[in-house]
Amino acid sequence: MKSITMLWAAAAALVASGAAAQTPAATPVSPSGEATFVQVGRLLADPASGVVQRDKTLVIRGNRVAEVRDGFVGEGRIVDLRDAFVLPGLIDSHVHLTGQQNPNARLEEVTQSNAEQAFVGARHARRTLMAGFTTVADLGGQNEAVFALRDAIRRGDVPGPRVIASGASVSVHGGHGDVNGYRDDVMHLLSSESVCSGPEDCMRAVRTQVRSGADVIKITATGGVLSNTAAGLGQQFSEAELAAIVEAGHRMGRRVTAHAHGADGINSFLRAGGDSIEHGTWLDAESIRLMRREGVYLVPTLMAGDFVARIASGPDNFFTPAQTAKALEAGPLMLDMARRAHDGGVRIAFGTDSGVSAHGDNAGEFALLARAGLTPLEAIQAATVNAAAHLDIAGEAGRIAAGMPADLIAVSGDPLADVTELERVRFVMKGGVVHRAE
Ligand SMILES: [Zn+2]
Repeated sequence: MKSITMLWAAAAALVASGAAAQTPAATPVSPSGEATFVQVGRLLADPASGVVQRDKTLVIRGNRVAEVRDGFVGEGRIVDLRDAFVLPGLIDSHVHLTGQQNPNARLEEVTQSNAEQAFVGARHARRTLMAGFTTVADLGGQNEAVFALRDAIRRGDVPGPRVIASGASVSVHGGHGDVNGYRDDVMHLLSSESVCSGPEDCMRAVRTQVRSGADVIKITATGGVLSNTAAGLGQQFSEAELAAIVEAGHRMGRRVTAHAHGADGINSFLRAGGDSIEHGTWLDAESIRLMRREGVYLVPTLMAGDFVARIASGPDNFFTPAQTAKALEAGPLMLDMARRAHDGGVRIAFGTDSGVSAHGDNAGEFALLARAGLTPLEAIQAATVNAAAHLDIAGEAGRIAAGMPADLIAVSGDPLADVTELERVRFVMKGGVVHRAE
């Protein structure tokens, strides 16, 4: 083992030369030349193929996989996973890192500063990474907090998954995603520039999000369960607004994804050229036809449906009356929605809406996807190759191969036999850095 001092010196040299900008790492990565050899008993390198290979060694140089060799080889820095099942780091396409539902959530909205939200997000990001998720899409939070967290992780200041962030949702005035249920002057103070009315104004809102740092545009095409407004779960933007939003996003190179429950909002958004659907509760035959025709991904967020239905019907329900009514209406429908979509041949990308349910529990979604009819391999594809394609990062995540970032996880059992094995991740490497090993 080379001395730590030498590694630091090498890392410092990289920083000095400016090369470290492309090397996000929590601890110094091995300098070029020194490899880490990850010896793997069972390897699902490419979930698209489903092929499990035996006895391989992944040669890691810097933050990437340099080669995949037959047998157990290497000397020096060796990671022994000969008794484990290794697969690509998981991807959660829908989280909200800077918050988490709890009885005080509505109070926190008016007491926590943006800086505090970023620190809370750092705690959630670490939990998410330790659970085996090396990439997430954060779809909705306060701009400053979310973007600062994303960038801090990228620099290696705090451990967490790679974050693709929307920042604040582009939302209708008074609708889901706007501030709601407080006194007027408080709402005026907290309202975001991402809230809009009318096509021109909605183009402005999208452009404002791009300027602020959004990687992707998230919109609320319909009402939502947790807004404290009795405004239903149907379409809230007009057709003209939806078209303006999609055009403005696409013209600036951003994908546009929509939170959508009601079939009216889902189908209007798809007809406007939207890229993907989050939740999808009341999707119908027309939604399935449109999604298949355009190759659109659905992110079913079954954990969110499960969570809100359990809270709203439980003894410790902390939702307001407006939230409770919508939770009881939509929550119990989501499992069947995913079943219909899957049966209908819709592409599914894994996403949990964590921040509704608890961060770090993300792998709980696998059991729900299995109940909706996905095979273990299909559920793993949803959280790797499908999510990578959905997020437009197929060249950077979702597979283990020479040239790809070294994002990999290990479990003891066989997740292709029991997909809930992924709830017990024992090893996490992200960008060549080991974050968890037990
Ligand atoms: Zn969400």
